[in-house]
Amino acid sequence: MDSLTAEQIAERIWLSIAERRLRPGVRLKETELAEVFGVSRARVRQVLAILAREGLITSEVNKGAFVAEPGVEDARDIFHVRRTVEQRVLERLIDRLDDEKVATIRDHVEQERVANTQNDQRAIIKLSGGFHQMLADMSDAEFLSRLMRDLISRSSLITAAFRNSDQYNCGPDEHDEILLHLQNGDLKQAKKAMAHHLDHVEKELRLSGERDSIRSLKDVLLPQG
Ligand SMILES: [Zn+2]
Repeated sequence: MDSLTAEQIAERIWLSIAERRLRPGVRLKETELAEVFGVSRARVRQVLAILAREGLITSEVNKGAFVAEPGVEDARDIFHVRRTVEQRVLERLIDRLDDEKVATIRDHVEQERVANTQNDQRAIIKLSGGFHQMLADMSDAEFLSRLMRDLISRSSLITAAFRNSDQYNCGPDEHDEILLHLQNGDLKQAKKAMAHHLDHVEKELRLSGERDSIRSLKDVLLPQG
């Protein structure tokens, strides 16, 4: 009996990738995952299918599954699409916003502040993506919600691969600003704040130079020269 669902395990692996504990290029062995999570290999295969669909891993026949290694252009693609999708989310959301939704978003931003103060990286990662997902979900547009889920998951991988500092970079201040404009019913300013926020997040990434090279165990352990 598998005690964890495929979705639960997929989320844990996603977090490990986002927290940079599992680096791009690392192999995910079915047998090891089955052992670590105490589940069957059939369940592990379901997990790998979810992660592949979300662009977090790549599978190669006869070689197995690896944490995906996104390139600089892939990173730019993600932000290009996010800018467009999230502008549309705001257009859809602004007419649907009521006091209850505003209170829910406000509460979420407050949780982000607490996580930032406590430097709780795991909570920061979940809440940062959660803010953008929440706006999409509240916009009552199933297609946009689905796109955002995919984009957020891919963004975490991109951020893990390319970010400059160890800080996860979706700060509560910019989220708060977007909320403020939404609350005022000012779509134009809300869209401007969102565009600025996504530009900022993208600029924090090291997209001009080379990524850290992936060091194999052999490279790390064998004497040089
Ligand atoms: Zn954000």
